[in-house]
Amino acid sequence: MLTNDILSQWDRENFFHPSTHLGQFARGEGAQRIVTGGEGCHITDRDGNRLLDAFAGLYCVNVGYGRTEISEAIAKQARELAYYHAYAGHGSEASITLAKMVMDRAPDHMARVYFGLGGSDANETNVKLIWYYNNILGRPAKKKIISRWRGYHGSGLMTGSLTGLELFHKKFDLPLTQVIHTEAPYYFRRPDLAMTEADFVAHCVDELEKLIAAEGADTIAAFIGEPVLGTGGIVPPPAGYWEAIQKVLARHDILLVADEVVTGFGRLGSMFGSDHYGMKPDLITIAKGLTSAYAPLSGSIVSSAMWEVLARGTDENGVLGHGWTYSAHPIGAAAGIANLDLIDRLGLVENAGKTGAYLNRAMAVALGDHAHVGDIRGEGMLCAVELVADRETRTFFDASATTGAKVVGAMLKRGVIARAMPQGDILGFAPPLCLTEAEADHIAGVTAEALREVL
Ligand code: PLP
Repeated sequence: MLTNDILSQWDRENFFHPSTHLGQFARGEGAQRIVTGGEGCHITDRDGNRLLDAFAGLYCVNVGYGRTEISEAIAKQARELAYYHAYAGHGSEASITLAKMVMDRAPDHMARVYFGLGGSDANETNVKLIWYYNNILGRPAKKKIISRWRGYHGSGLMTGSLTGLELFHKKFDLPLTQVIHTEAPYYFRRPDLAMTEADFVAHCVDELEKLIAAEGADTIAAFIGEPVLGTGGIVPPPAGYWEAIQKVLARHDILLVADEVVTGFGRLGSMFGSDHYGMKPDLITIAKGLTSAYAPLSGSIVSSAMWEVLARGTDENGVLGHGWTYSAHPIGAAAGIANLDLIDRLGLVENAGKTGAYLNRAMAVALGDHAHVGDIRGEGMLCAVELVADRETRTFFDASATTGAKVVGAMLKRGVIARAMPQGDILGFAPPLCLTEAEADHIAGVTAEALREVL
């Protein structure tokens, strides 16, 4: 029998954890948690704690933990056919069925879904498809990708470059030269407090126009953005932002990639963020909510217009030289089918809208008048509480402040997991879409108590 002490030691001595302070962890400092189970919105660990997970893992366990419908579908698929590849027209009943289910839910102008494993590789696929597309159209110079500061698109070489957070660039020699960044649609941190939302949208458009003019539209292939900025601070866009940005992109013949890794399959209270904000993307990235993380699976959904060019490209050049061994893995596909069925059956898209709005209201009631709460914002089942040093002057804590992390620590002691978002004192909430109103009240209450303890 493995004791907690042995596991803990093996962990510290052998396991290279992602997104972790390596030195501290190896020295036995910092958090360590060995998770053993989960049900609904709660997880349990080996120390006997039961915690309300108000971040759904990494905003991915959308249907909640312990869903036997999905684990049984995975087990059945593993017994019948654990693996076969999807190259050269091969597939499995599960991968074909899931492709149909995804396309039935995707916006009407989309044509096909390419399956990968995680959000990062799906965005790598998107960039390759965009470059291929422009090469087929005979415009080899049109290759740069515009991303936003504070955007998060993954941790690969290209996707880490697209990510607009310094932490993911520092000492990695990123971003790569093909990536350029523009203003984040972050109204709370607008450059001039006197700006209205409409002024700020005009400012974002102006910044984009200036960037395009400086680089040359004939060098720019695409613009990538999350419908709601996620890891960069959970920031819904100001009203009219996407409409205004899309007009600029259309004028310069620049493709739009909607990175819906977080927003896809219901988190905003709509099936896709693109539906929610009237976006008409050329590519949509999906991952987390596709399987609720019961198995790794992602996808790039391609528009009809793009699909036609890609297909013509292979008529001219032969097989598309892009594939992963695990593309459309049957076990991931089986998990995806059971997951999407469950989302429909339990009405989770509607619940994300309804209970998400309730959670945002409960936060506003519990924290709204706290002297260090600068902003409470959200959309659907996403909520952020931004802490400030001075609310009246909107002065931020200094860049090295860890106030958000301290509040999250105080919440953890009270049995609720929130996330201190990187770069900024922002508490992030993205619970499973099955959250109840009672659980939302509990999260808001614990946040208020923890805030009072720390500030
Ligand atoms: N895109 C967005 C919007 C994300 O939030 C994430 C992960 O959080 C990714 C891409 C990368 O996905 P993955 O971690 O599965 O590679």
